[in-house]
Amino acid sequence: MEKLIGGLRRFVHTVQAEERELFANLASGQSPETLMIACSDSRVDPNLITMAKPGELFVIRNAGNVVPPYDSGVGGEAAAVEFAVNVLGVEHIVLCGHSGCGAMISLLQPETHAHLPAVTHWLQHAEPVLSIVERTAAGLTGDALLEKATEINVLVQLSNLRAHPAVASALERKAIELHGWVYDIPSGIVSAYTSSAEGFEPLNGPTADSSGPAPK
Ligand SMILES: [Zn+2]
Repeated sequence: MEKLIGGLRRFVHTVQAEERELFANLASGQSPETLMIACSDSRVDPNLITMAKPGELFVIRNAGNVVPPYDSGVGGEAAAVEFAVNVLGVEHIVLCGHSGCGAMISLLQPETHAHLPAVTHWLQHAEPVLSIVERTAAGLTGDALLEKATEINVLVQLSNLRAHPAVASALERKAIELHGWVYDIPSGIVSAYTSSAEGFEPLNGPTADSSGPAPK
């Protein structure tokens, strides 16, 4: 805790002091363009990997970057999605999985969480991944299996997201775009699902333009 409190002190004297105008503007409200749904994993930092500033990303994080089906009962995720879409008017939703995801490892090895009733219950929202993996990627093992399950989970959760009434309505009005990403922790590479390739392709691989789009 000492380290975190030291960080709070340094933050006020450095970042807060240097970005005084930004934080003053943010004090009056937020208008993020993007909702990002990512894993709770301590190694995944949506703002860091996108180099987004405070106010740019509205973020939901939970174990396994899961979007429980809307009809499974309204919880925190559904409420946050509704607020982001209907009140903040986000134009993009990014569903971001990641390499080495403990939730995906647990999903593939149910015996590892048999003693954790809340985790077992939560991961039911990702169970469709297992049957899809069985159908489309039988024979994969180890890291390849984990990678495939992680990608399929992104697509399963995007499908749950599309069925959320606020998202469905925004999609109908063409007011929102959905994106499926997987972040690779050791390389920093983020791959995005493209329907034309029916797979994930790097957005920031070695040949990609390092500058990215100009900041607004
Ligand atoms: Zn994870």
